[in-house]
Amino acid sequence: AAPVAFMGGMSSAARLNVIIKDGSVLETLAQVRSAAFDKTGTLTQGRADVVEVRPGARTAEETLRLAAAAEQYSVHVFAEAVIAAARARQLALPEVTEAEEVATHGVRASLTGGTVVRVGKPAFIEEVAGPIDRPALRAGETAVYVSVDDELAGLLIVSDPIRPHAAETIARLRAAGVAEIAIVTGDVAPTAESVAQLVGIGTVHAETTPQTKVEIIRAIRPRPVLMVGDGINDAPVLAAADVGIAMAGRGSTVASESAAAVITSNDIARVADVAHVSRRTVHIAL
Ligand code: ADP
Ligand code: MG
Repeated sequence: AAPVAFMGGMSSAARLNVIIKDGSVLETLAQVRSAAFDKTGTLTQGRADVVEVRPGARTAEETLRLAAAAEQYSVHVFAEAVIAAARARQLALPEVTEAEEVATHGVRASLTGGTVVRVGKPAFIEEVAGPIDRPALRAGETAVYVSVDDELAGLLIVSDPIRPHAAETIARLRAAGVAEIAIVTGDVAPTAESVAQLVGIGTVHAETTPQTKVEIIRAIRPRPVLMVGDGINDAPVLAAADVGIAMAGRGSTVASESAAAVITSNDIARVADVAHVSRRTVHIAL
């Protein structure tokens, strides 16, 4: 009877737009006791907007123009927002001769003439520009730092709204017996903590890298542990969890390949839905 039940579970999941790699995923998911969520693009929509540009050594317009030039070479969810903001202001972008995306940190680009632009998190910019004061932000906002030739050019304030069903999904998982729920994010602590508070998560691991995300997931108890993530940088941690669920989206092909399940409908509530399907399926199978 078991294989039939698992096939039923997999087709229930498919109707929810959740692709499951095999029946054993449902079995593990039904036992899950802890969960970790990536923030950017997972708990948040990953459809960010540049809401403000704060000038530093360069004007607001120049800061945005240079940042957008570099972001053309990034697959991060914020890159799209920065490019769209430059386009909306009809800014002509300078030519990039070389660019490199540094996962969870940002992007570095060389322009014709040798100017070097960095766009990303504070630590990435402080490597070249020295210590920078942290700006005051509203909930759901992240400051994207821009440096030009080792000097802070300005800040882009990016707003990345929380997904509509995020809080409800966390509450449903808790009600289903998932005792420990954490955020594991590459973003800085204040932004991560404001999101955690809004969705009802008590534990925050901020400024993580793809490698430290893996270490954190391995240490989480009780097990089994579920990881929900999206970006390229989440591929290792999705593979390291007992069950990895990927939110499909921009730049997430690699994440999807290393996950046990993939949500293709862009709705985080599917995490709780498929957890429910798994428990029902295992109940029928046993
Ligand atoms: P998460 O782990 O929550 O998905 P990421 O690791 O993708 O977050 O990114 C962490 C932080 O790094 C972002 O919040 C942003 O501040 C910064 N960052 C990374 N890449 C970029 C980029 N290309 N442009 C702007 N900011 C970036
Ligand atoms: Mg992410």
